[in-house]
Amino acid sequence: MKRILVTGGAGFIGSHLCEKLLSEGNEVIALDNFFTGNKKNIIHLLDNPYFELIRHDVTMPFFAEIDEIYNLACPASPVHYQYNAIKTVKTSVMGAINMLGLAKRVNAKILQASTSEVYGDPEIHPQPETYWGNVNPLGIRSCYDEGKRVAETLFINYRRQNKVRIKIVRIFNTYGPKMHPNDGRVVSNFIVQALQNKEITIYGDGNQTRSFQYIDDLISGLDKMMNYTPEDFYGPVNIGNPEEFTIFELAQLIIKLTNSKSKISFLPLPEDDPLQRKPDISLAKEMLKWEPTIHPKDGLLKTIDYFDNLLKEDF
Ligand code: NAD
Ligand code: UDP
Repeated sequence: MKRILVTGGAGFIGSHLCEKLLSEGNEVIALDNFFTGNKKNIIHLLDNPYFELIRHDVTMPFFAEIDEIYNLACPASPVHYQYNAIKTVKTSVMGAINMLGLAKRVNAKILQASTSEVYGDPEIHPQPETYWGNVNPLGIRSCYDEGKRVAETLFINYRRQNKVRIKIVRIFNTYGPKMHPNDGRVVSNFIVQALQNKEITIYGDGNQTRSFQYIDDLISGLDKMMNYTPEDFYGPVNIGNPEEFTIFELAQLIIKLTNSKSKISFLPLPEDDPLQRKPDISLAKEMLKWEPTIHPKDGLLKTIDYFDNLLKEDF
């Protein structure tokens, strides 16, 4: 039995990860400041004696004897990470320093939830891990993008200087049950709008692309990367589904799958919104023997089912 720390454990990805780690017989400590996370995501785990939930902000040091850390704490939706941009930078940078310091002290293995956003508005398509990216350091997305880039820099230097056992995963757009209905990301927005027969809000002309992976595929990728041996394969590695959609195609698909009467409306495109995004997953396939297994339509149907039930409750 390992003792595993999950920062951001009450969030969308973190709560799925806590479930998986507990089901494998580990002891799990979830840290969260509940900025975007929700106790409801993990309420069913609270009476498990091997699960601990701690209200804590990763910008402050934390001490515990642990074997592994998954560092997920950071708002991920543009709406939320831009709400308090300075705090977002602090969360990424100071959070990484605090968690790497802890990993160093207790000799824990530590995985960083990095992001496809480190590629910015990419000029190379699809994006391999060797691409250095195209990020506007002054733009409204930079608090997130640059914060995550500095976090990667910190990780690699803790490895170089202090031999900390690191893993870096660049996560591409992920969706699934337990996303917050007001999260602001495209899949949850469109599904909630479609289920309520409200206007589907496309930002820009809808020709920008994203590649969406279902949560279960991501969790298996994180697991494979954390447990891959030899440990000197530390990434970064892209984990995402290469099936690419325009945002317009996504809107049409969700309308069809929900049988919705919603009409599409076009709103201004936010500043620096990347035009295209699709992972090159050759490295994950070769090293981790990982690739996504869940077809977007199946993943979307499960997510629609989740939001359909949630909307019947009072969230
Ligand atoms: P989320 O917003 O649902 O979860 C983030 C969690 O971190 C929340 O529970 C939030 O309360 C917590 N948190 C935020 N700031 C904190 C702080 N200072 N101290 C402690 N806890 C804090 O988002 P998510 O989609 O679950 O994303 C989890 C991680 O994965 C993030 O680091 C994100 O950057 C990364 N990621 C996600 C995606 C995606 O598509 N979901 C893509 C790329 C990377
Ligand atoms: N988007 C949209 N309508 C929405 C929410 C998002 O058209 O209601 C667009 C957004 O402008 C972007 C894409 O969908 O081009 C993905 O947005 P999201 O916030 O989910 O993720 P990210 O931009 O970080 O990939």
